[in-house]
Amino acid sequence: MGFICVSALTAEKEKLRFTLVQIDGEPYLSFGNLKRLHANLSTSYSAASAQGEIRFGKRIILFNVDGDTYQAQSEKHELDHAGVVDRDGLFFTREFVEEILSELNLPVSYRFTTTHLTIVRNKERTPGASLDFIIIDAGHGGKDSGALGYFDAAEKDITLALAHALRQQLKADYPQLKVYMTRSKDRFIRLEKRSDIANRHNAKSAFGLFISIHCNSTLSPRVKGFEIYYLAQNGDNMKMRQMLLRENLRYERSSYIRRLTSQLMNAQIQRESKTLARQVFKTLAIRLDGMIKSRKVKKADFAVLRGSLMPAILIETGYLTNKDDLKRLMTNDYRKAFAEGVSRGIGVFLGEMAKSEK
Ligand SMILES: [Zn+2]
Repeated sequence: MGFICVSALTAEKEKLRFTLVQIDGEPYLSFGNLKRLHANLSTSYSAASAQGEIRFGKRIILFNVDGDTYQAQSEKHELDHAGVVDRDGLFFTREFVEEILSELNLPVSYRFTTTHLTIVRNKERTPGASLDFIIIDAGHGGKDSGALGYFDAAEKDITLALAHALRQQLKADYPQLKVYMTRSKDRFIRLEKRSDIANRHNAKSAFGLFISIHCNSTLSPRVKGFEIYYLAQNGDNMKMRQMLLRENLRYERSSYIRRLTSQLMNAQIQRESKTLARQVFKTLAIRLDGMIKSRKVKKADFAVLRGSLMPAILIETGYLTNKDDLKRLMTNDYRKAFAEGVSRGIGVFLGEMAKSEK
């Protein structure tokens, strides 16, 4: 009920399906097919230097096939690897293709499987000139405690306290903005319901953001720090997949997960999510300096992010399995710094979006 599935909305649109090439058991997209993703995409590649560029409008990506970084709008970004060259030509990893789609702000939705890439062309996305609302999502709740730490600390309680602090801060910093919470008390809510709440507010083409708050845990008690995730289909590594299982699936209906994973992702919303993640990370790192270590911006396939049809990030605020982090997470000082850092980052993000609209 109320859940709008992107693939249903775009069912009548033309679907382009590209076969991925299998090289050493990994799927790749050929350079020739990359050019076909959009008529206005221009590409060049020099085999001698192994370097190339991909352009779309004013946006440009520079890459080196052997490199583990690429450059977009003169900023460097990390990759596992960009691609391979063999005697049949140049091939890109799924990860790099996904980066290309979002960094170039291509008006398309897409979905990867191990054998195919499906592309649907969209109308250009024009988010409103000003932000209308923010959804704050306190992770877990009720029977779902989330991660557990020392001193009987439960993730669900910490995320709720941080969510309330953030709400207060946003209300103070942006009085004209509507701020909603997926839960305001200790209550169990399915991921599906969280996305429903967000998308209901999104329905009237209003411009909204979705911010999910979580705490991390791991087997190693030494690992500490905060990190911010945005949605991607090709997540970072195996460890990530284990975490996704924890955060995503325990209480979900398999039909919902199936529906989610068959859904196409909008590359322009993904780009906004990525920009939001980067800006909030920067301001949060400054505000939390000396309190909690800043790790990095990461990408992952979180169900709660996939379900939200608007720019969305997930903040892992610290490790409950690390005593230093846990002590910090339970203080008023941290809550205040967290709320201020996120709020400031949203401000910078909005400035950034306004600039790129021009
Ligand atoms: Zn969590």
